[in-house]
Amino acid sequence: MSSDDATLAAVPDLSAFWMPFTDNRYFKANPRLFSAASGMHYTTPDGRRVLDATAGLWCVNAGHGREPIVRAIQAQAAKLDFAPTFQLGHPAAFELATRLAALMPRGLDRVFFTNSGSESADTALKMALAYHHARGQSGRVRMIGRQRGYHGTNMGGTSVGGIGGNRRAFGAQIWGVDHLAHTHGHAAPFTRGRQASNGDLAGELNELIALHGAESIAAVIVEPVAGSTGVLVPPRGYLERLRQITAQHGILLIFDEVITGFGRLGKATAAEFFGVTPDILTLAKGLTNGAVPMGAVVASRAVHDAIVEGAPAGIEFLHGYTYSGHPLAAAAGIATLKICESEALFERAEGLASYWEDAVHRLAGTRHVIDVRNLGLVAGIELAPREGAPGERATRAFRRCFDEGLLIRVTGDIIALSPPLIVERAQIDEIVERIAAVLETIE
Ligand code: PMP
Repeated sequence: MSSDDATLAAVPDLSAFWMPFTDNRYFKANPRLFSAASGMHYTTPDGRRVLDATAGLWCVNAGHGREPIVRAIQAQAAKLDFAPTFQLGHPAAFELATRLAALMPRGLDRVFFTNSGSESADTALKMALAYHHARGQSGRVRMIGRQRGYHGTNMGGTSVGGIGGNRRAFGAQIWGVDHLAHTHGHAAPFTRGRQASNGDLAGELNELIALHGAESIAAVIVEPVAGSTGVLVPPRGYLERLRQITAQHGILLIFDEVITGFGRLGKATAAEFFGVTPDILTLAKGLTNGAVPMGAVVASRAVHDAIVEGAPAGIEFLHGYTYSGHPLAAAAGIATLKICESEALFERAEGLASYWEDAVHRLAGTRHVIDVRNLGLVAGIELAPREGAPGERATRAFRRCFDEGLLIRVTGDIIALSPPLIVERAQIDEIVERIAAVLETIE
């Protein structure tokens, strides 16, 4: 063993790091660490390889340890470590914004940088408020999210998000938020791809408009496909209808594409995949392939121009972060987008989608599985909850899979799968077979 390996194998003191979204007491008694990663695999400090079926945390779309990204970060750090983007700038941030704008649906081409998906969500909400304010409609302050929506953990995102557990422990959140019903029913389990239209779910928005008045509503924010709450694929026509109603009433539509952006559905964005263009679109994760924290909010020209031109001379949008457009993140982002293009990664995902669909639906007959959902290279495998212990069965599956060399993600009783887009067919089979084998061993 080299001295480097010995360093990696040493288990650090775990007590000081208060880990996010973690059962800290359990974890620290049963730590699971990664010490390296390459391609489709992580490596543990004791040298075990773990196949990554979740692209890290939905972010490592181009696979781990990509040389061009590593080199770009190193070169940028050596050349220009930091430069403010308040009243100043540096070339990489502008180049990344230009490249990003070129990937977005037509009309969305003004890019605001953040450092995470949570910051992107809150930035998008504030942008919507600023837009209405600039147009003399400062009464438009209400926000509408959706049950089972996840928009990160900052105050705005938590408030428009629809996950009870994430909200209840914190008491009151921001004022003036309503939630649409989520899009998932159990009427048609094991649906492949998109569900048939199931009534007029989006039409519920009309009821909220009738209740509050359109003149009080700023924006509707949804994930085109809800990811973190277990891959909820919208029924056909749903997003189109949301678009139609919001446009009719002057309400902005925000797509949170932190998960669906960068090829997860086989296109640059879910907006492109579904053919529905929002006014504001949030990104993070895959933007830098997870290598450096970064997010972005892409606004339509109309939203941007209203805020910029509607403001008196001077700074028009009093919002931003010290690290907005950070040089290292921008360099990582440019390198990532170049890989996506040169390796045609989005097209690759699109080409694999039907193989993926067939593979994950083989889990339909597996013990405990009550639903399988998929779209692009994402899938949700829902397990029957154990009586009196919701989520426990999936948590056991997660731990058992990890111990057997497979990284999955679980949320409640749902296994969420989102492999890097470089995944091979044989690895897709391996993911599915290993999950099936593990589920057979779990009570
Ligand atoms: N929005 C969505 C749709 C997400 O999936 C996530 C993260 N899973 C976020 C926002 C928050 O991103 P972050 O953890 O980078 O703040």
